[in-house]
Amino acid sequence: MINLPNLKILDMKESEYDYRFLVESTTPSPSHCPQCGEIPKLYKHGKKEQLFFDLPMHTKRVGLIIKRQRYKCRECNETFFEDLPDMDVKRSVTNRLINWIQETSLEKTFTSVADEIGVDEKTVRNIFNDYVAELEAQTDFRTPKWLGIDEDHLLKNYRCVITDVENKSVIDILRKRNKDTVISYLSKLQDIDKIELVAMDMWNPYKSAVNTVIPNAKIVIDKFHVVKLANEALEKIRKANRQNVSAQERRQLMRDRYVLLTRRKDLNDFDNQIKLQVWTDKFPLLGQAYELKEQFFDIYEAESIDEAYKLYQKWLSNVPKELMTHFEDRLSQRIIGKKRYSTISILRLQMPILSP
Ligand SMILES: [Zn+2]
Repeated sequence: MINLPNLKILDMKESEYDYRFLVESTTPSPSHCPQCGEIPKLYKHGKKEQLFFDLPMHTKRVGLIIKRQRYKCRECNETFFEDLPDMDVKRSVTNRLINWIQETSLEKTFTSVADEIGVDEKTVRNIFNDYVAELEAQTDFRTPKWLGIDEDHLLKNYRCVITDVENKSVIDILRKRNKDTVISYLSKLQDIDKIELVAMDMWNPYKSAVNTVIPNAKIVIDKFHVVKLANEALEKIRKANRQNVSAQERRQLMRDRYVLLTRRKDLNDFDNQIKLQVWTDKFPLLGQAYELKEQFFDIYEAESIDEAYKLYQKWLSNVPKELMTHFEDRLSQRIIGKKRYSTISILRLQMPILSP
């Protein structure tokens, strides 16, 4: 044992499955009556044996029979027991056994945990439930300044993932991603006015849910989703081009497509630079599309909204007619549901994230 500093062992019995220690507390007598606060009026009023359980030892259960001192107050006639700082008196277990039960119940059934230490199953279950409630209370997060609404494909369904953008943490996962679900979730958040920005993709129900519940929050389209569209436009052009090439070239183009999707500044490998050169020489339109994709990304890396706007104007004037449809489809038309946001308004939305 048992190394509980406030207990002294008086006796020990051992059986096949159990240790029983007879102990008494070594804590000083109470200095005042807990009921009326009177200081000198206490006297000892008998002892009572109480059974507490402690950590198992050598695979045997450990019971501590405490000869617990009772006191009585001359002033108010209240009787009370001495304090037991190492014990959870309500549950009749040591505090350290509580911790052990919390951890162990994560892995084993309540029944087997109960059997291992000698307490009943209901006590184990209650301790564990309290623990879970405590954990949940702790994770009751602070409403973030930048809320992220995103989605993930989990268990065959799209789930709505709520994140704290600034602290890069997931706050919650909602079972559905429709407007009502998001509205009902947002409505339950505390201090909702704290939310200044909401980052999301171009899923209209998110936008209208946010507009309904937090109309003052600024909506920001996640950069990732916009640049993804630029890549999709390029892919579309690549696929349109493959009709005009031989089967072998088509396979080659398929294999090399990652080169087209890579930023030029990230093409460190000389082989890949050559591949890019070969394809863009062979298919000038593809080359142009690549340039446009690169320039589009540059817009997002502008230092200010003015600079971004200039880059955007320049970009727009560089898009040849035959490519415009691809980019337009992707970048301007299908944005945020019914309301057709132009690329530049997305840029405006995006800017706060670019210049924190
Ligand atoms: Zn009293």
